[in-house]
Amino acid sequence: MLLKSIPKVDKFITNKAFEGLAKSLITKISKEQIAKLRVDILENKVDSIDEKLLINLVLKEYENISSSSLKTLINATGVIVHTNLGRSLLDKSSLEKAINIASSYNNLEYNLEKGQRGERYEHITKSLKELLGCEDALVVNNNASAVFLILNTFCKNKEVIVSRGELVEIGGSFRVPEVMSQSGAILKEIGTTNKTHLRDYENAIDENSAMLLKVHKSNYEIVGFSSEVSFEDISKLAKNKNIIDYYDMGSGHINELPYNLSKDEPSIKELMKSNPSLLSFSGDKLLGSVQAGIIVGKKELIDKIKKNQLLRMLRVDKITLALLEDTINLYIKNDLDKIPTLKMLNTSLEVLKHRALNLQKSLENSLETKVYESKTVVGGGTTPNKTIPTIVLSLDYKDFKANKIEEILREKLIICRIENDKAILDFRTIKEEDLEILEKKLKEIFKNG
Ligand SMILES: *Cc1c(COP(=O)(O)O)cnc(C)c1O
Repeated sequence: MLLKSIPKVDKFITNKAFEGLAKSLITKISKEQIAKLRVDILENKVDSIDEKLLINLVLKEYENISSSSLKTLINATGVIVHTNLGRSLLDKSSLEKAINIASSYNNLEYNLEKGQRGERYEHITKSLKELLGCEDALVVNNNASAVFLILNTFCKNKEVIVSRGELVEIGGSFRVPEVMSQSGAILKEIGTTNKTHLRDYENAIDENSAMLLKVHKSNYEIVGFSSEVSFEDISKLAKNKNIIDYYDMGSGHINELPYNLSKDEPSIKELMKSNPSLLSFSGDKLLGSVQAGIIVGKKELIDKIKKNQLLRMLRVDKITLALLEDTINLYIKNDLDKIPTLKMLNTSLEVLKHRALNLQKSLENSLETKVYESKTVVGGGTTPNKTIPTIVLSLDYKDFKANKIEEILREKLIICRIENDKAILDFRTIKEEDLEILEKKLKEIFKNG
């Protein structure tokens, strides 16, 4: 009997509630929901038809499908360059410039002086040369593609000499030996896992060698009885032997870093002093810009890379170039506060503590909290095994376990960290402008004390 009163799709979709919505999508969802209702009736799961409920289900699903799946959230993990959470943030002022470029015609590949076709990479090359004093530069989709492009250009069917301690796997799908074989290069491993000496490089060079490659270890560190050769020494040796020296820096930072982070990791500016053939690094790790792979080095070599057809497949859009150019200009103007990654890294403990205590005070009546100093990491394979100090606020609520609190916060788009069985908010990565929203959300979540 109930089956007979199931709404007909044709009529159902004319309901006022669906006015102004995409008809084809509403029809598709309505069909699905009505079919489901039919099954529920047959299985005796419902004993009446509530058309209002049905309409609401359709509207909810419509909203679900048509709203954006990418969402903003609050990173309270303390990990600044968090690949799962979008790596480096961009300042809105940089984005405004990119919006202007992208929503307007522009001189991306047009030479305004000559009134003819220009070069896409010229704009960013100019800024990078100014900042780093390199002969030339090139930008591709990400650092993984920079590595691939370089190996494919110079080392196809030729040997690339790499230390066994540097044959790393980085986040998911980037494994040095595999990237190398796909690029056509022949891997020549030298040294041992824990120790590689300059003489290992020297002994390995023969007439088939094209390159000495150094790879930043990024996500691990060999401690104890270990040694590696500095890029400076590798670079010198390569020049003596007339082959290419190339350092895949992974993250790569421009200036010195706080907390002694750059003690064992020279900055790009520092490395440029040894006049390297080629360096590459990511745009969205410590540099603090957009996703990109940046190649700097000798003009003669970069000219050859530009002739590789692969470059066309790895090329970046005007939006990337506009954003990257803006970041590089911020470095040139020493306006580093507009680079969120560096701003977070450089915020003092006093400031973080002040913010944590403020939040603690406002949550007094909602839940139990403690503010204390802890440690976090930069992330993104930037400075493996090194920690930086931070300020955290631990959350205790009734007899809830830490992972329960973590889950509740995650539902409200706050991603926290669990440390010593406590859910904690790390202030290193909570943006200043998000503090108010965070307070509001926490009060709402834990309102009944
Ligand atoms: C992160 C990293 C890469 C990959 O860089 P993406 O910009 O993520 O493509 C390559 N090599 C090293 C050493 C890295 O740390």
